[in-house]
Amino acid sequence: MRLENKVALITGAGSGIGYQTALRFAREGASIMAVDINEEGGLQCAADIRQRGGAASYVYADVSRAADCEKMIAAAEATYGKLDILFNNAGISHADDDDAINTSESVWDMTMAVNVKGVFLGCKYGIPALQRSGGGSIINTASFVAVLGAATPQLAYTASKGAVLSMTRELAMIHARGNIRVNALCPGPLRTELLMKYLDTDEKKQRRLVHIPMGRFGEATEIADAVLFLASDESSFVTGSTFLVDGGITAAYVTPE
Ligand code: NAD
Repeated sequence: MRLENKVALITGAGSGIGYQTALRFAREGASIMAVDINEEGGLQCAADIRQRGGAASYVYADVSRAADCEKMIAAAEATYGKLDILFNNAGISHADDDDAINTSESVWDMTMAVNVKGVFLGCKYGIPALQRSGGGSIINTASFVAVLGAATPQLAYTASKGAVLSMTRELAMIHARGNIRVNALCPGPLRTELLMKYLDTDEKKQRRLVHIPMGRFGEATEIADAVLFLASDESSFVTGSTFLVDGGITAAYVTPE
C-alpha cells in the first residue's frame, strides 16, 4: 500500500475533492482525520472509510479560525499519534464574487479568510506537527485560475488561489531542507458541487467546456489520484510545484472542436 502507516489530515473532507481523496488515501493504508464545517459530510466521510475497513475520524474546524486549526492538528496527533500528510483543501467560491466593481468587500474578505488564511493557519499549526514526525508532505489546493485569466469574473477567488500558489512556493523553499515538501495542486474545472453551483445554467457550463481540450469536466476521483502521488513517497523529489491536473486547459491556445 502506498500510504501504509501514514496519518493524513484533510480539510474540506465533507465533499468533492476532499471526500474522494480521503477515500483514496484510506484505501492505500493511511489513517484519516477528516475536517469540515459541514458536520454531516465530514462524519459521512469518516463513516464511509470505517465501513470499508479503514481508519478515520472527523473533527469540526473552520479553517479561517486559528483556534480551530490548532484543535484539528491536535486531534490528529492525539488520535493517531502523529501527522505525515496535510491536505489544505477547503475552499469557497462565493456566488456573488464578480469583477472589481461588483464584488463586495465582505465577499472579498470571506473568500480570503477561507481560501488564503485557511491555508496559512493549516500550515502554522500543521508544520510543527510534521516536524515532530520527522517530515512530511503538504498539498495546498490552488486552481488553474491561479495561472490563467478568465473572462467569467470571480476576482476574489482568482486572487485567493494566486496567493495559495505563491505561498506554497515560499513554504516549499523554507522547508526544503527540513524534509517537508509543499506543492500546489491546481485542478481544472471539475464536476463537483462547488463549480456546478457557480455554473448553474447549461449556457454557463458550455462556455467553460469550450476551453477544455478534453471537452469535459474533471472528476474529483481524478484529482484524488494526483493528490495521492503528491502525498506519497513516490513524489519524493517534487516540491514547490504548480501541479496542474486540468484536462489540458492551461496548455490550450485553440481547443479542438
Ligand atoms: P466542495 O464545495 O465540494 O468541497 C469543499 C468543502 O470545503 C465543503 O465540504 C465545505 O463544507 C468545506 N469548507 C468550506 N469552507 C470551510 C471552512 N471555512 N472550514 C472548513 N471546511 C470548509 O468543493 P471542491 O470542488 O471539492 O473544492 C475543493 C477545493 O478545490 C477548493 O479549494 C476549491 O477552490 C478547489 N478547486 C475546485 C475546482 C472545481 O472545479 N470544483 C477547481 C479548482 C480548484
